[in-house]
Amino acid sequence: MLIRLSHKITRDSIVDGPGLRAVIWTQGCRHKCQGCHNPSTHDLNSGFQMEVKDIIEELSDLKLHKGITFSGGDPFEQPNLCLEIARASKDMGLDIWCYTGYTFEELINKRGRKYKEGWIEFLKHIDVLIDGPFVLEKKNLLLKFRGSENQRIIDVKKSLRFRMPVLLEEYYDIQTEEVAVAR
Ligand code: SF4
Repeated sequence: MLIRLSHKITRDSIVDGPGLRAVIWTQGCRHKCQGCHNPSTHDLNSGFQMEVKDIIEELSDLKLHKGITFSGGDPFEQPNLCLEIARASKDMGLDIWCYTGYTFEELINKRGRKYKEGWIEFLKHIDVLIDGPFVLEKKNLLLKFRGSENQRIIDVKKSLRFRMPVLLEEYYDIQTEEVAVAR
């Protein structure tokens, strides 16, 4: 199984979620957000391909890591392949964070215009989702783990149980961000 990536795996990140993390940079994104820092990741057929089993093998070498983070591009353009990596990572005791330009509501709406096969199954293996497109007018450099104030840090397990987004409020700062905590 080949997954399309935009960059090679970052093995040691401390900015893409809590603790030491490996980051999987997927290729392909349909959101085309104005001000996106990484337009080269948009083309669904660009980047390079890598065997999922080789990624899993690389992750199995990690010793001190808290988890992995899917970023991109948008990982939800390749949900079934990301699912395989997430499943294996869970078996290794790693937690899973994921960035996406889709909203949680879009990801769980099977009747939605954008819904893709495999989204729910991948979502079930994610611990924390940072959702929504980057909105230039809502850009805030003080936010933790996010680029703009519309994006949310979501506890996926609780959110799937309640079928509505439940925020991880420990990552919000009331001083700098009244909008998000009021949601
Ligand atoms: S979702 Fe992310 S990668 Fe995609 S266009 Fe928006 S900022 Fe760029």
